Amino acid sequence: MKTCYGCKEQKDADSFYKDKSHPSGLSGYCKECSRAILLDAWVEDVKRNIVWDRDGRHCKMCQVFVSLEEMHLDHIVPLSRGGKHSYVNTQTLCGPCNLYKGVRTLEELGVLPNG
Ligand SMILES: [Zn+2]
Ligand SMILES: [Zn+2]
Repeated sequence: MKTCYGCKEQKDADSFYKDKSHPSGLSGYCKECSRAILLDAWVEDVKRNIVWDRDGRHCKMCQVFVSLEEMHLDHIVPLSRGGKHSYVNTQTLCGPCNLYKGVRTLEELGVLPNG
């Protein structure tokens, strides 16, 4: 586990990009934060537990209860479309809804997921 410089969350190594220039071999920022910074979408530190609590601990799309571990922090307007990494632009989604939304967004963009 490693703590992200941005959101200050403890995440496993898979949540960080590899960065050879960093002593740990991993980027200091998690993938979510790295992406936001790269796209100039960084507005504020968005903490998963705060969004999750605010949204009543339920998925905003299908209303199913999600645990903090299961919740996906979704950008309502995707970062790739100019959405910001901020509390107003994030919501709680369950895994299946996040996957569905992600795929649909990629289709709309005409980009095929390549892993
Ligand atoms: Zn982070
Ligand atoms: Zn859902």
